[in-house]
Amino acid sequence: MISLPNRDFLEAKIEDFIISSEKVAHVQIGNSAEHALLVLTKTGYSAIPVLDLKYRFRGLINAQRITDAILGLDHIEYERLPDLKVEDIMETDMPLIRPDDRFQKALDLLIDQNFLCVVDDAGMFTGILTRRVMLKQLKKRLYQLHD
Ligand code: AMP
Repeated sequence: MISLPNRDFLEAKIEDFIISSEKVAHVQIGNSAEHALLVLTKTGYSAIPVLDLKYRFRGLINAQRITDAILGLDHIEYERLPDLKVEDIMETDMPLIRPDDRFQKALDLLIDQNFLCVVDDAGMFTGILTRRVMLKQLKKRLYQLHD
C-alpha cells in the first residue's frame, strides 16, 4: 500500500501558484461577443474571465456559450455577434478561490474545473489557478516523498 507520510502541502496557501492577472487574457464588461470570440480563438483558451473597468471579476466566457447564444433554427446567426454583449451570456455561477485559500480546497474544486479564478475579499481579480499547475505541484511533492 502507498502511504503518504506528509500532508503538509495540502495546508499550503495557493498564492505562490497563481498565474497573475496581468498574464491572463480577459475581456471586459461591455465588450461584444464578437470580440470575446476573437480573443478565445486567437489565444486557444477554452474560457477567459470577464472583468469590469476596475478589474473586478464578473464572470467567465467561452466559445460554447457564444455559439449557443447565436444558434438559429437551422443556422448559426453570426451577424448577431457584434451586438451581443459578453455580460448577457457569460457564466456567473462558478466556484471562486481566494489567494489565501489552501491547496486542499483548490484540489477539490479542480476536479470539476479546468481552472479557478482567484478573487480577493474586495472582489478584485488576482489571477487564475490551473489544473495543470496544481497537478505539477502534486507530482513534484509525490516524487519528493519517495526520494
Ligand atoms: P492550461 O492548464 O494551461 O491548459 O489552461 C487551462 C485553461 O485555463 C485554459 O484553457 C484557459 O481557459 C485558462 N488559462 C490558462 N492560462 C491562461 C491565460 N494566460 N489567460 C487566460 N486564460 C488562461
